[in-house]
Amino acid sequence: MRAPIAIVAAMQEELGALLAVMPDEKKVRAAGREFWVGHLHGHAVVAVLSRIGKVAAATTATVLLERFGVGAIVFTGVAGGLAPGVEVGDVVVASRLLQHDLDASPIFPRYEVPLTGHARFATDTALSDALADVAADLLRDPVALLGQIVVNDFGLAAPSVHRGLVVSGDRFVSSEAESAALRRDLPDALAVEMEGAAVAQVCHDYGVPFAAVRTISDRADDAAHGDFTRFAAVVASRYSQALVNAWLARTPAT
Ligand code: SAH
Repeated sequence: MRAPIAIVAAMQEELGALLAVMPDEKKVRAAGREFWVGHLHGHAVVAVLSRIGKVAAATTATVLLERFGVGAIVFTGVAGGLAPGVEVGDVVVASRLLQHDLDASPIFPRYEVPLTGHARFATDTALSDALADVAADLLRDPVALLGQIVVNDFGLAAPSVHRGLVVSGDRFVSSEAESAALRRDLPDALAVEMEGAAVAQVCHDYGVPFAAVRTISDRADDAAHGDFTRFAAVVASRYSQALVNAWLARTPAT
């Protein structure tokens, strides 16, 4: 039996639609969370809501690895766009993740996780390639995915897929001043969220493949809060469901 694949999102809005299509899920409670153990397209899957923030995400990842013996973790959800051209409705597949609020300088270089020698934790290339391919296919026809009304409403006419650095921290970045500071300090950062780099670090410690795919819900600016709430409710869940479903359907279950 192959080890199960973990599918993680922070919030119900991001994973609800996927949970609804797992045919044989069984809920297992651990660490105050519900782990949905079941199958999707012949793959053993454990799906769970981590809740928001780095510690919540790290706890969830550790339980997935220790208790459920998962062989890979895929994090999905929403993020704020940072780099120019990373717009609401786009998808970012992380190649590396960094904690933007970690700073033990001058003892260690800024952003470096003390005693690991790393600031940027790499994702699994094969997993990320496969997810980016699926995302590109899905985004070719946003109307099929979301319907014309939603596409018009959010101006999602030509969403695109980006790959690169995603940064995480325990802060909802919701002002132009904050996002400009992140752009200045980390010019190659594509998007900001609150969990990914923590899970990347845990997966690195365990030597387990990790990938992170985020839909851009806001531009991490003064309008972020309004955009975020509406987007998460209307778009995010459908994106995650379609992406994970299409990816698992394409991946041979052995
Ligand atoms: N539930 C609250 C706050 C959500 S926090 C609300 O409705 O306002 C935002 C969540 O989405 C986190 O899980 C984070 O990973 C992601 N996210 C989306 N946009 C973000 C941004 N601009 N800054 C930080 N995290 C963001």
